[in-house]
Amino acid sequence: MLTDAYGRVATDLRVSLTDRCNLRCAYCMPPEGLDWLPAPEVLTGAEVVRLIRIGVETLGIREVRLTGGEPLLRRDLAEIIAATAALEPRPEISLTTNGIGLDRRAAELKAAGLDRINVSLDTLRPEVFRKLTRRDRLDDVLSGLAAAAAAGLTPVKVNAVLMRGLNDDEAPELLRYCADRGYELRFIEQMPLDAQHGWKRTEMVTSGEVLASLSAAFNLTDDIERSRGAAPAETFLVNGGPARVGVIAAVTRPFCGACDRVRLTADGQIRNCLFARSESDLRSALRSGATDAEIADRWRAAVAAKLPGHGINDPSFLQPDRPMSAIGG
Ligand code: SAM
Repeated sequence: MLTDAYGRVATDLRVSLTDRCNLRCAYCMPPEGLDWLPAPEVLTGAEVVRLIRIGVETLGIREVRLTGGEPLLRRDLAEIIAATAALEPRPEISLTTNGIGLDRRAAELKAAGLDRINVSLDTLRPEVFRKLTRRDRLDDVLSGLAAAAAAGLTPVKVNAVLMRGLNDDEAPELLRYCADRGYELRFIEQMPLDAQHGWKRTEMVTSGEVLASLSAAFNLTDDIERSRGAAPAETFLVNGGPARVGVIAAVTRPFCGACDRVRLTADGQIRNCLFARSESDLRSALRSGATDAEIADRWRAAVAAKLPGHGINDPSFLQPDRPMSAIGG
């Protein structure tokens, strides 16, 4: 098992399949994009699958979330999903995506073994979408969402980040849209993970603000059926249910004590936290002929060194060198 010094067990593996993205979300990267990883540094499909297999068969991984960058940019995504679905015990497989191109691939991914999906959607206003993502792709995202639901990747979850002065007044509109279509919306507090280092605590839209603005338009009640557990989202029933909405208060109400996640970057580094300042290199182990047992030992040591919390609220907090797109959100 992957245990740390504070008694937490990592069972949820987040795999970044690429650091590249076809959007340029303001809270994530600059308009010109970033220096992408050179192709030889990115794990091949076979290397990714080998690491997932070691995680599942030897280290107790029970859920695999594929992310990025934008994971739909990987042509071998369906093959990676199918190989993961063939593992014993079969892990739950989910995908976090911006939804562009999903209209053409949702059914194929479902057939390969994908269980659940999160699509990022921060605004329903085309001009705000253009400003926030620096691309004109809102219609593609909306059709991707509809295709995911039609393919049975339900309940489709929607991730939204609100930014002050840009889309901070849009929470009720987003919830109405999602609730009407059976999508489960979750608001994520903006975290200091942008490549530009522009995050300011004082400008961040808090989950408290989001709940206040939603409560003016909807009746929100505690979702007693779902306890938070290791899940980052706190959920509420909307107007008595069955619609739900969640908030992920990663900054104002951290959930590090219940964290069960571990991350693998597209270039084969294990990170024991989004905010970790060091990584463990599994790619060089893979490529220098290490055995599964040696790789598992290196992975265990990486998780054992996990700190008790992300420290965003400490005066000494230092933002990690890699931005969210390179770590895998
Ligand atoms: N490209 C995919 C997508 O758009 O969902 C997957 C990668 S993206 C990094 C994963 C999630 O991280 C998205 O929901 C995005 O909104 C969120 N995200 C990115 N930067 C963030 C930040 N600084 N704070 C909070 N969430 C962030």
